[in-house]
Amino acid sequence: MDLSQKMVDLGRKSSKIREIFEYSKRRKAEIGAENVFDFSIGNPSVPAPKAVEETMRRLLAEQDPVLLHGYTAAAGDPEVRRKLAAAINRDYDADARGELMYLTCGAAASLTISLNALVVPGDEVIVFAPFFPEYRVFAEQAGARLVVVPSRPADFQPDYEALERSVTPRTKAVIINSPNNPTGVIIPASGLSRLAALLRAREEEYGKRIYLIADEPYRKLVWTGEEVPYPTRYYDDTLVCYSFSKAASLPGERIGYILVSSAMKNAADVYAAICGAGRALGFVCAPSLLQFTMAECADETADFSIYRKNRDILLRELTRIGYEVIPPDGAFYLFMKALEPDADAFYERARKYELLLVPSDSFGCPGYVRIAYCVTTEQIRRAIPAFEKLYEEYQK
Ligand code: PLP
Repeated sequence: MDLSQKMVDLGRKSSKIREIFEYSKRRKAEIGAENVFDFSIGNPSVPAPKAVEETMRRLLAEQDPVLLHGYTAAAGDPEVRRKLAAAINRDYDADARGELMYLTCGAAASLTISLNALVVPGDEVIVFAPFFPEYRVFAEQAGARLVVVPSRPADFQPDYEALERSVTPRTKAVIINSPNNPTGVIIPASGLSRLAALLRAREEEYGKRIYLIADEPYRKLVWTGEEVPYPTRYYDDTLVCYSFSKAASLPGERIGYILVSSAMKNAADVYAAICGAGRALGFVCAPSLLQFTMAECADETADFSIYRKNRDILLRELTRIGYEVIPPDGAFYLFMKALEPDADAFYERARKYELLLVPSDSFGCPGYVRIAYCVTTEQIRRAIPAFEKLYEEYQK
């Protein structure tokens, strides 16, 4: 075949999440949407903030359309980047600089650009299981070997002892995701400090840089009053990958950024590599209307109080029924132990009750399912009897 077999395979074999999402659409057409309990995909179910829509309307009415819809600088409009960096500094007391920010089409683009900027042949990229399955696709496509380090079974925090054993002179980057997809776990300041100390020690020992890639699309979705520490304040060699997809309910608009820490000694070179990777991948000039809109709406979030309510109901009801779940601190996912070791088999059995849960194998952590609760509370309430019946089936 005169095509890239790797790409044909990637294109043919959609992710398990997408596969279930597609099944859900077919099933809803068959038996009615209200009878299918689709917990498969992390697609926000609340509208974007009013201010976003109003800002877009105002810009469309008032701005010169040629400028508004035109190309910006490849890295994004400088004034937009300055405003977004200022918002970060206000919110997190950080030292973000617009000239070290690269605007992207969401966190997926932020991650692929960052990995392509950093990775050279022979490099390893470390992730903690369970992890967002696309990390494997992004890291391997950039030419790295993905090294999977487990989390601690008790609290699903990164297993730092296992990390110590896994960092080698080939390690180029460690990806963290807090709050986490699929567990909702937040890495506290103590965890970040420990991670930073470990990486700094290895940087010295090996005489090379090891980068921390903080994938943070869920940063603002927090349920427990816990703080999500800002990673550049803990570790100099950090790249923050942010996205407005989740907290601002704008996943289809494709807007986010990469922020290179200003404390990084070789920040200028890393930023140049980010610009180069963006160019090589064709990810230049993120959508202009969204750039200008988010510059005015950096701190706006959707009213996602419903996710909090859903989380509380699910946590209470699933525990009451007898399921073992990880209480999520943030994001809109709940990680639940499957009632048999084979999560795929459990997924199939749940499907008989129209419960669409994502088996955890592709997250690198078998034996669980992920429940995306960014759905209506009505769906949660209606699904509880189905969870009960599923549990009863396993007690027979
Ligand atoms: N990273 C994580 C952990 C995610 O869960 C997602 C989307 O679900 C992404 C990145 C990609 O987000 P975006 O829509 O901003 O590309």
